[in-house]
Parts: sequence; C-alpha cells; structure tokens
Amino acid sequence: MLYQRSSELFVEAAKVIPGGVNSPVRAFKAVGGTPIFVKEAKGAYLYDEDGNRLIDYINSWGPMLLGHAYEPVVTAVIEKAKKGTSFGTPTALETEIAALAVSMVPNIDKIRFVNSGTEACMSAIRLARGFTGRDKIVKFSGCYHGHSDSFLIAAGSGLSTFGVPNSPGVTSGTAKDTLLARYNDLDNVKELFEANKGEISAVIIEPVAGNMGCIPPQKGFLEGLRQLCTENGTLLIFDEVMTGFRLAKGGAQELFGIAADIVCFGKVIGGGLPVGAFAARNEIMNYLAPVGPVYQAGTLSGNPLAMAAGLAMLQGINGDTALFQRLEDKTAYLEKGIREKLTENNVVFTINRVGSMISVHFDADPVYDFQTAGKGDNETFKKFFHGLLQEGVYIAPSAYETWFITDALSYDDLDFTINAIDKVAKSL
Ligand SMILES: *Cc1c(COP(=O)(O)O)cnc(C)c1O
Repeated sequence: MLYQRSSELFVEAAKVIPGGVNSPVRAFKAVGGTPIFVKEAKGAYLYDEDGNRLIDYINSWGPMLLGHAYEPVVTAVIEKAKKGTSFGTPTALETEIAALAVSMVPNIDKIRFVNSGTEACMSAIRLARGFTGRDKIVKFSGCYHGHSDSFLIAAGSGLSTFGVPNSPGVTSGTAKDTLLARYNDLDNVKELFEANKGEISAVIIEPVAGNMGCIPPQKGFLEGLRQLCTENGTLLIFDEVMTGFRLAKGGAQELFGIAADIVCFGKVIGGGLPVGAFAARNEIMNYLAPVGPVYQAGTLSGNPLAMAAGLAMLQGINGDTALFQRLEDKTAYLEKGIREKLTENNVVFTINRVGSMISVHFDADPVYDFQTAGKGDNETFKKFFHGLLQEGVYIAPSAYETWFITDALSYDDLDFTINAIDKVAKSL
C-alpha cells in the first residue's frame, strides 16, 4: 500500500497545525511513519486519501460502536441541520436524550451534557469537591480522564503518592490535590485514605481501564473501592467515557453490578459528534448551577446536531437486544484467532479483553496496571502495527491503546484480520 498523498498532506498540515494533528495520539509518534489521512468511512472501513481501504479497529477511539456513517445518525444530523445548528436555548431534544440515557443507565436521576469527555470529568470532580467540601482526589496511574489540569499527573516514583505534573503548564498547586494510586491495588488506596483522613472528595477510575491497553478490574477491586468510598464519605466516580454504552446498555455499572456516585460519558454517547455528559442521583446533581452552587456551563452544550446524533445512537443501542452479545461473540472470535496465530508463530504475548475492548501486549506476563502495561516490547509492537497497516488493517498507533470493536465488522472482516495477523506474525 502506498501512502504518498497522506505523506504530502501531513507535511502541509504540520506547517499550520502543531505536529500536523489536533490530538497528539494521531501523529504516529509512538510507532514512527506518517499518519494516514482519512477521506471517508462507511461501516467497518476507512478510505484514505490514497484510495486504500482499511479495516478500522479504532473507530474514532470508541464512538463508532455501530459502524461509520451509521444511517440513523447521518439522517438525524442532516434533518436537524436544516432547522438551525444552535440556538442557545433549551430544546425538547435535550430532554428526550437525557430521559433515554437516564432510563438506560443504573443509579442516575439526572444528566448534564457537555462537549467532550474531558469536560465531563473536569466537571464531575468540581461537583464532587463542591458536594463534599473536600479538595483532594484519588486517580490511578495509567487512567486517562481527559486533559484538564488535575488529571495530567503521573507518579514521580513508585513510592511517591503525591502527584507531580507531567505536563508543563500544570501547576504544583493543582498537582498536590491529586493523589495517585496503582490500578488493581486496593491496599494502596487504603493507605491513601488513612494518610488523608477526611480530605478525599472523590476516587475517579476507569472501571475497565482502556488507556493503558485494556485492563480489567480484578475480582473485588471495584467492590473494595465502593466500600472504602462509602466508609469515608467520598464519592466514587466511574469515568465511563470509554465503557459507557459499550460494555452494556448501562455500562460498567451494569456489567459489574456496582453503583457509582457520579458517572462520566463521552465517545459513544455522541454517535461521532462532540458530546460528553456527567450524571448522578438527584442529591448530587442538584448541587449544580442554576439549582445549586457549583458552576458549570457551555455555549454549545446540548447542541441540536450533537443531541440528534447522540439520540439516534442511543436509540440504536437501546432497541437492539442482541447487540452486546454480538459484540462479545465477534470480539471473542477475534481474540481466539489472534491467540492461535501468535502462538503458532512463537510470538510472546498477553491478551486482555472485556467485551468489545481488547488489547494485545507483547509480553508473557499478566498486564494488570500501568507498570506491567509498560513492560511490553515496543519494537515488536511497531512491526506489528506497520505490518497490519500494509495488510489493510488499522489498529491504534500505540501499544497503550485498546482496540474498539464495532458491530459493523463481519466475520469475513475478522477472518481477513486474523489472516493478516498470521502473515505479520511470521515476520516478527
Ligand atoms: C477519551 C477519554 C476521555 C476524554 O474524552 P475527550 O472527549 O477526548 O475529551 C476521558 N476519559 C476516558 C476514559 C477516555 O477514554
């Protein structure tokens, strides 16, 4: 496959956009080479500027659960656009999607819409701080909650519990209120609670981590967090930007049977338009302006095009009782195929999967937190990535990313992919 035009477009882009991209992971920095410029997409396929067809395992980093250019979303957006693209007033459509979301997701009474997952998480912790009157939050190394200041914190060392900023521009004042814990390590969280008695407003977590590859919560981990939070008057925030409406209709809360206090959404909820949301029971949501004292706002929040897309998406999910089983079956089929081909070709690997989230790590040992996720062989990953790209299979350009399986994939597509993996595995 040739990427002549993509390469030329990247050169032009880099002259006027930092690094040529509007979000860093698109830049292929972790794998080398130049990013693919996509012209259009349909179903499970991307079509790039050079005329190549790629089977897509990123799916806009999650949103396209039902495939690209999903007809009901496209139609809803076109029809809405003809009637005006933004009013800055309430609309009936906002109530309609809110009511549907509240009916699909357990443990929430009210939901507020914003424009991205970043905004949702940022607003959720402000709300938690306002509600509890406490400043500190606990986040887990390797979990991503968007790019707002409080979350851009990484451990200085394995022993350090106080966060240090990992981006210039995040002040140490902000970092000191973010406590870092190890994923799947309940004792570590207990220590933080003991050392910061009465000061922790919220524990925020990806209930299935998806931003360090896919890392499932170990048995008892989420239950333990729930209990610790309840005992300490701390709110448990599930960042379901990735897992919401993907792992089940009601997300990870439904899948694991655990009630979070605040839930954050993004990705799937917008059907491919910029939408985020956060939700909770009445007692907490009524702390938000204009009812309560915690301020949060947005000129384009609840935008009619975005809400029309989101509503069509949620209706598609809600109305399809076999969807999640199909996604499970397809992803399990893919997992089995990858395991067979990598094993046959003597490649050392670990695969993690929950439902339609799956990741391949080039390491023999279990991957259960940020540290173990970092042990994978990146040189092998690079070859794997570029090899698959040559075969017309597009996975995320970083070993730290989950693959997002779409229902638009056929078993022929999956067989094509497994075949491609066989070919590439021979060269690893
Ligand atoms: C993608 C993601 C975010 C950020 O959402 P944006 O829409 O990119 O701002 C937050 N949390 C999780 C778990 C995510 O996967």
